Amino acid sequence: MVWTNIIPLLAEGIQIAILFVAIYGFLYFLRKSRGLQVFVGIIVAAFVLSMILRIKGLQFDVLEHLVDVILNSLFIALIIIFQPELRRALAELGSFSAWQGKRKRELIVEIVTAASDMARRKCGAIIVIERNTQLQNYIEDSVMLDAKVHYLLLESIFYPKSPLHDGAVIIRKDKILAARVILPLITNAEISKYLGTRHRAALGISEESDAVTVVVSEETGSLSITYKGTIHRDISSRDMENLLEKLLILKDDHELSEAVMMLDDNNDSENNSQEKRQ
Ligand code: ATP
Ligand code: MG
Repeated sequence: MVWTNIIPLLAEGIQIAILFVAIYGFLYFLRKSRGLQVFVGIIVAAFVLSMILRIKGLQFDVLEHLVDVILNSLFIALIIIFQPELRRALAELGSFSAWQGKRKRELIVEIVTAASDMARRKCGAIIVIERNTQLQNYIEDSVMLDAKVHYLLLESIFYPKSPLHDGAVIIRKDKILAARVILPLITNAEISKYLGTRHRAALGISEESDAVTVVVSEETGSLSITYKGTIHRDISSRDMENLLEKLLILKDDHELSEAVMMLDDNNDSENNSQEKRQ
């Protein structure tokens, strides 16, 4: 009963909020341009016309017809009138995604620099980069940091004498969210046979989320990446950078699935060579 009353109210509230944001955003966007004067002009003209058409006892056939015609083509007219503003808005959207891409590239450089430095020194590390799946559940017993990603900070965390070095770090956007994170281990017994717990943890989180994980092996100094249950092992830092760009910057599903196929191919040849070695 209560719900049936609340739901329509909620819908009204959401509609008002959406309209408020849309109108505010529209006016805010037009505030510095000639478009605002045009917009005010249209509103004033519409108001005056509707007042005239409401005068009782008078028939304004021609005017009414004209208003009908204008209203029917208003949408196209608005696009033509606001063409410069629309073009500017689209360009700003484009530069926003370019800006995001630039920030992601900077993040990748910090991670790859840290990973290759640590690989050279055989300092073990596991760095989880969150994508769409929120990793909130895994950070409960960890140490929260919320610090801007920097390769020196990553290297300090995984420095063997650092109290934070055990476990994984999780990166959200351009921040290290938490350190000393315990990840779930991969359940597949066949894969587990060949791997230690660090690599099994990297595969475990990749099975449970769409996160991308970078692993530096303490034993061999090798670099690996896990994504969606696959592991790309013993890769060069250049390959790691390329793969991270594919996995973190490309939003297009087709390009992403191509990157995953690359991982799968490498995984197959890895397994085959592992079988041959036995
Ligand atoms: P390496 O090649 O570096 O030796 P490995 O895959 O052989 O890695 P271990 O030698 O068992 O794995 O590495 C142990 C380290 O891995 C631990 O000290 C810890 O930092 C990390 N680790 C182990 N389990 C987890 C886990 N569940 N979540 C996060 N990190 C883990
Ligand atoms: Mg080991």
